[in-house]
Amino acid sequence: MDIASRIRRMGFRKWYERQLIDSHLSFTTCFLSGIVVASCLEELGRLRLDLKSAALVALVVGAIALGLYSWRRYHAVLERAEAYGAHSSCPACRTYARFEILASGHAAVGPFFDPPDTPLPYPWLRVRCRQCGAVWRMPD
Ligand SMILES: [Zn+2]
Repeated sequence: MDIASRIRRMGFRKWYERQLIDSHLSFTTCFLSGIVVASCLEELGRLRLDLKSAALVALVVGAIALGLYSWRRYHAVLERAEAYGAHSSCPACRTYARFEILASGHAAVGPFFDPPDTPLPYPWLRVRCRQCGAVWRMPD
């Protein structure tokens, strides 16, 4: 399900809150992976050619891979949430997160945006304030 559909279904506040929870779960996973690696460092100095050492190396490699994936996911989800969150208040009346989505898309529009063949990192949303009717685009 794309971002516009999720925001339509649950509302911007709840979508934003879930994005923050999601990103911080990834951060916690990254932190716990670091603890696993740190706790295995002492044992890595005493490696032998046996099954226990192979399992330890596999655990460390898996924890490093999971930690790197989680770190990247933490940044990606948080950056996306902040990109939309920075434009979630109506520019006319400053009402927060009370808008309806009129349209969405990935193509760049206008002379001040990316060239048309360069996809935007996130879909743009054209939204209308439920308080005053102002229309704006997010993220810019
Ligand atoms: Zn407004």
